[in-house]
Formats: sequence, C-alpha cells, structure tokens
Amino acid sequence: MQLHRMLQLLGAVVLVATMALVGRMATTEWQAVSSASESLRLLEPLRAGLVAMEMVSRERGPTNAALGDAMPMTQERSDALQQARLRTDRALVALRDAVAGAAGSPGMPAGLPSRVEAARVALAQARTVVDQTLTLLGARRSAERIRSAVYAMVSVVPLLAPINTALAGGAQHAYPTLGDEVQGALLAADLREYAGLLGSHFTAAIVKREPFSAAERRAIDETRGRIAQLRFLIELRVRGDAMPSSVIRAWEMVDARYFGAAQALLQSVLREGDADGRYGLTAADFAARYVPDMNPVLELRDALLLQARESAMREHDRAVRVLLWALLGAAVLLAALGSALFVLQRRVLRPLVRATGALHALAGEERSAQAPPQPVARQDEVTAVLGAVRLLQQQTHRRHELERERDQLIEQLREQSATDYLTGLRNRRSFIAAAHDRLLQAQRYGFDVAMVLLDIDWFKQLNDSHGHAAGDRALQAVAQVLRTELRETDLAARFGGEEFVVMLTHCNPQAALQFALRLREAIREIEVMGAEGHYIRVTASLGVSDSRTVGLALEALLAAADTAMYSAKNAGRDQVVQSHLASAE
Ligand code: GH3
Ligand code: MG
Ligand code: MG
Repeated sequence: MQLHRMLQLLGAVVLVATMALVGRMATTEWQAVSSASESLRLLEPLRAGLVAMEMVSRERGPTNAALGDAMPMTQERSDALQQARLRTDRALVALRDAVAGAAGSPGMPAGLPSRVEAARVALAQARTVVDQTLTLLGARRSAERIRSAVYAMVSVVPLLAPINTALAGGAQHAYPTLGDEVQGALLAADLREYAGLLGSHFTAAIVKREPFSAAERRAIDETRGRIAQLRFLIELRVRGDAMPSSVIRAWEMVDARYFGAAQALLQSVLREGDADGRYGLTAADFAARYVPDMNPVLELRDALLLQARESAMREHDRAVRVLLWALLGAAVLLAALGSALFVLQRRVLRPLVRATGALHALAGEERSAQAPPQPVARQDEVTAVLGAVRLLQQQTHRRHELERERDQLIEQLREQSATDYLTGLRNRRSFIAAAHDRLLQAQRYGFDVAMVLLDIDWFKQLNDSHGHAAGDRALQAVAQVLRTELRETDLAARFGGEEFVVMLTHCNPQAALQFALRLREAIREIEVMGAEGHYIRVTASLGVSDSRTVGLALEALLAAADTAMYSAKNAGRDQVVQSHLASAE
C-alpha cells in the first residue's frame, strides 16, 4: 500500500474514532444539560404549587379569625381576609400559568391544569361556605357551622398536594440528584400545612371557650403525630452532608421556633382545653402567637427549593462547560490531524515522490531530469534526503561532463593518430587501413581503383637552400593542392617525408592519368616563400598504377605506383608515368 493511501486511511480512522468519542461525550453531556434544564423548568411550577398551597393555608388564618368573632366583621378583619384571598387567587393563577408553561415537558404529568382548576373550584365553594357562615351572627353561628366552614377550607389543600407531588416527581425524574432537596421542600410544605391544620383544630374550641370535643382531640393527636413524622423525615434529608449551611440554619430555626416556642404554646392551650375550656387567650391572640412561628418552616422550604435550583443550575453549567470543552477539544484534535496530514503530504510525501523521480532519472541517465526542489532553510530528515539526492545529481552531472570530455579527448587522439600533424592529411597508417576497406568494397562491387604516388623533386636541396621552414610550407601547399583536386570519395595521405599518395575510386586508367597530370600542373603553380624573401617553385614526380593492370591488392598497387614514380624521376622529374608504361620501359 502506498504511504499516502495509508495516511489517508489512518486519518479517516482517527477522524471516525474522534467523532465517535466526541459524539458519545456530547450526547451524554447534552442529555445532562437538557435534564438539568428540564428539572429547572419543573422547579418553577413546583415552587408555584408550594406557594399556592401555602397561600391557601394562610388564608385560613384571617378566615378562622373572622369566623371566631361571631359578630359583624370589623373593617380590619374584612380587609385582612380580602387581602389573603387576593394573595391566594394570585398564587393559583401563577400556578395555573406555570403548569400550562411546563406542559409537554417529558417529566411533566398530564392532567395537572384540570387539577389546578378543580382546586380553584373547591376553594370558591369553601369560601361560599365561609361567607355564608359569616352572615350568621351570635348564637346562630354554631360551633358546628364554624367547624364545617373551617374544614371546607382545610379540604382545599389536599387537592393541591398531588399536583406538587407530581411536579416534584417530574423534577426529580429529570435530575435524580435533586431528590433530597425536592422531597425536603415538599415535606416542609406538608409540615406548614399540618402545622396550620393543627392550629385550625384549636380554633373552634377557643372561640366557643369550650373543652375540645372528642373528635377535635382525636384530630389534634393525629395531626401532631403526622407532624412528628414529618419532623423526622425532614431531619433525615436536611442533616445530609451535601446540604449547605443555609438549609441547616433554616432547619435549626424551625427546630427552635416551631418545635420549641409554638409547641410550648400548643401544650399550654391543650392543657386548658383538656380541663375546663377556660382559655387564657382569644382565637386572635392564639393565631397572632402561633402563626409567626410557622414562618421558619416556609423559609426552610424556600431554602431547599433554592438549593435544588442552584444544584440544577450548577449541573447545567457544568454539562455545558464539558460539552464546549469536548467540542473545542475535538476541533483542536481535528485541526492537529489535518495539519499533520498536510505537513506530511507537503513536506514528506511530495518531496519523496520528486526525489524518487530524480533518482529514477539518474538511474536512467536522463540528464534533463527534473531536480528535486531546492532545499528551504529547514533542518529535517526529508530535507537531508533531498540534499543527498541533489548531491548525487550534481556528482552524476559532473561525471557526465568528465565522460563527455574524455570521449572528446579520445576522439581527438584518434584523429591525431590518424592525421599528419604538418599537412592535416591522413598519415600512412590511417591511409593503409582506409585503403584496405576501399579495396574490399571495390572487390565486392567490382569498380576500378587507381593509385597515384607523388614525390616532390629536389626537396633536400630546397630544404638546404631555403630553410626547413620553407620545406614545411611546400609540403603544406602540396597537401592543399591534393585537397582541392580530390573528390569526396578519394583518399589522400602524406606517405612519408615529401611523398604523398592518392587512391582514386571508380576511376579507369585514363582518368587516373588525367588526374595525375592535373596534379602535376597544379603543383607547378605553387609558390613557396623562401627564407630569403622570394618565391620558390616546386615540382613533383608522379607514378600511377591501376587495378585493371595490377589487380586489387594494395601492396601491388603501391609497388607499381612506386616503380612508375621512380621511372618519372629517372625520366627527368616533373613527370607523370603510368605503371604499365613504366614496366614497359
Ligand atoms: P629527388 O628529387 O630524388 O626526390 O631528391 P630529393 O632531395 O627530393 O630526395 P631525398 O629523399 O634525398 O630527400 C628527401 C628529403 O626530405 C630529406 C629530408 O631532409 C626532407 N624531409 C623529409 N621530411 C621532411 C619534413 O617534414 N620537412 C622538411 N622541411 N623536410 C623533410
Ligand atoms: Mg623522397
Ligand atoms: Mg624527393
């Protein structure tokens, strides 16, 4: 597998794994965020429910006080009652709205709005009973009527309790950690309700200044029993290590005031009621002393609700933070992965591919091969490899240069070894080799050849008289004549000293003679500058042999031409002699 494919694959695997991990984490945290939000959403209606319950309980205070008067209400009592009713109505409207707002939440039980409505209807009915009782004056307002009015009001709260239980259950379901706070708040609200109820049980007897009826005594005992239970249940939750000091302080206040002062008051009233019913206080006095000591219970309820809210907020914020960190971490991881792949691609793979190309080119001796990119001012392993490739390339280039120079030198040497340094013509050795080849061709293709041997006349004398340099110039001039007169296919060479040879191909004896005569004439025209400053003329003796006469053997052709040339010398020089004539002489 190619490296870049492998990197792509690896990148994809890391990408998928990262996405899966982040997705898993994000889902978990998102669930935490939404359940914390959900529980926060449900804590609001729960608070409204508990407040509504409290207001219904509270309304019983001024209601009982007014019922206890048994005479037309004073303006003060009437105002207090109206205000209490107004507060209750507002609290119930707030609860109705809060319940409607939270409708559709996953933890939200169905049918709560109709239950709120039922409580409102029951409250209106209870108020009608109360109002009717209040119209009765003096003895017509019997203890029985008062009791039925009081208990009509008492019966409203149990209609609200299930709403609160359902809301608490929903909040707890969304965010189970809130258990102690939510349950504690519910229990505190219950405690407030039972404490109020307990007070109500005392009211009728105090108003009528009678001992408690058996039913009242039973109700008081039952309610006190229930209150003792609630005290135990609340303490269990409030004493937990996780509870903040605000909650613990609120509980201590409940302990001191409700379970201390208020219970002491109840105890003394109870004693009077159990005896002759001559109470040391009026119903209004009782309410004025008893009711304020229930307030710490509400404060405890609110402290617990606040704690639940803060706890849910903290969880919400924590989950949001973790979620953001997870997303940020994923983004950083992906960016790092992307950059790593990019850098690998740009700084490792691509240079490697180029270096491979360059190496292949070097192996294939491709001189024009593209060089790897010029190294940047970076110090890494790949740059080092590229540097090495570049070095190899440079060395190979130098080697190619040297080989080219060597070949040129060899060629030069070869030429020099075949060439006469003075005249530039072939030398004897080169001529013999070339002549052999021509003769083989002549044999194969059956064409004629002729050989002309040429020797400058009186050359020793020329040297002696006009200087060796003049002799050299004469040799060069003769060579130039040969080059001028020769055809492309003919061979000419300096055969030694002042002796030249010419081999003519596709040439019959007559043409050879004509050629030799033309040469003799041209040589006669040569003028060589002597050492003394005036021109010297030269002549040459030429012997001609041909293949028709002596055959195609080189030695025979040369020997025949040589004999003819000597005949020309003997005949007085500056002559042309053909071999068959020479041999004939
Ligand atoms: P002949 O007419 O009989 O040929 O007389 P010749 O003087 O030409 O003959 P010979 O063979 O006696 O002389 C040849 C001379 O050529 C001898 C030598 O000094 C001279 N020679 C040979 N090679 C060179 C050369 O390269 N340069 C010069 N200047 N002279 C050369
Ligand atoms: Mg000679
Ligand atoms: Mg000579």
